[in-house]
Amino acid sequence: MTEHFRSLIQNSWDIILVLDADGTIRYVGPSIERILGYKPEDLINQNVFKLAEFYYPHKHTVFREIVNEALSSSNTSIVTECWLRHCDGSRRYFEVIGQNLLDQPSISGIVLNLHDITERKRVEKELSMALHTALEASRVKSQFLTMVSHEIRTPLTAIIGIAEVLKETPLTLEQQKYVNVLETAGNTLLILVNDILDFSKVESGTLSLDQVHFDIRELVEKAIAAAAVRAGEKGLTLTVEIMPDVPSGIMGDPGRLTQILLNILENAIKFTERGEVVLRIKNNPDAKDDEGLLFSISDTGIGISEEKLNTIFDSFTQVDSSIRRKYGGTGLGLAISSRLVNLMGGRMWVESTQGIGSTFYFTIKFGSPSMDDPYIIQGGKR
Ligand code: ADP
Repeated sequence: MTEHFRSLIQNSWDIILVLDADGTIRYVGPSIERILGYKPEDLINQNVFKLAEFYYPHKHTVFREIVNEALSSSNTSIVTECWLRHCDGSRRYFEVIGQNLLDQPSISGIVLNLHDITERKRVEKELSMALHTALEASRVKSQFLTMVSHEIRTPLTAIIGIAEVLKETPLTLEQQKYVNVLETAGNTLLILVNDILDFSKVESGTLSLDQVHFDIRELVEKAIAAAAVRAGEKGLTLTVEIMPDVPSGIMGDPGRLTQILLNILENAIKFTERGEVVLRIKNNPDAKDDEGLLFSISDTGIGISEEKLNTIFDSFTQVDSSIRRKYGGTGLGLAISSRLVNLMGGRMWVESTQGIGSTFYFTIKFGSPSMDDPYIIQGGKR
């Protein structure tokens, strides 16, 4: 058994040390020469703490603690990390596994297994630096987007405002056409800028949510009124089903909920040529408490192919370029909505069959209002 043990540790890629109870080195595996450049015979009968002082001059107390811990009681093991100095002066990092086997007749000693993790540490450091750089770059990009969007919004609002004023003045038919183009293009740009602003706020973590008391039925009624006009123009039926057990008064951000609902409803109407769009709201059967609501918006539209289903929640993603040409849009709406839903403690997903239709689902956790929470009638702000 002893021979078997010796052969195992002699061929080990790790440094293996066997110590007496007082810390004297009785055995050190040959791999120490390859890993740290020292000859094993020079270390035999030395005290491990000298070895530790020798290789690990500044913080040898840490190493001493590790060994002491391993020495302290029988059949205990410890796992930790330390660094030792190579004979060329460089640092090597080790994962240390210490096992007290003093009770065992076959081995009888403290066995320290030192696994060289210098390369792993180097990669970890590089990865952490790369992650830090990437996060910093992403933060700067988001900040830049926020600033630029803000700066564009101000003159854009003036352009749209002036176009509206101009429309009220006597104009020739040709001039009216030009002003209409100006107004439509201005509004499209404003939607895009608002989307970019929202998206960069969500990405940089600077978007804050309101927490106010509102009536969900009232909010849905208002949101649906705008969508119903579009649905009516396309000859689609727009239905809303709110289950009776959905509480009316809830706490949350009504403005952002309206934004999510409108985005999904408008998509459903945009991508449906005939049939219906149905919005259903019920208590989320999967929520642990009764604060979670499950929303679903079903349509009988063009549907989404299976391979595109995974990417439609990514930013600037449209199913293909023909969608952009035919239906317009920026590919930001779902990215923003799904991130807003996440911020509200829920998730968003979709089920869809091409040519049959799609159902977008999302859950949101709302709070229950207390007696002191003022009731907000208007559907919040953006
Ligand atoms: P946008 O509508 O501005 O292009 P979205 O992020 O809202 O951006 O949607 C991304 C893409 O997902 C759309 O361009 C469309 O291809 C697809 N999509 C979204 N909703 C539906 C739907 N109800 N039916 C079919 N395709 C949809």
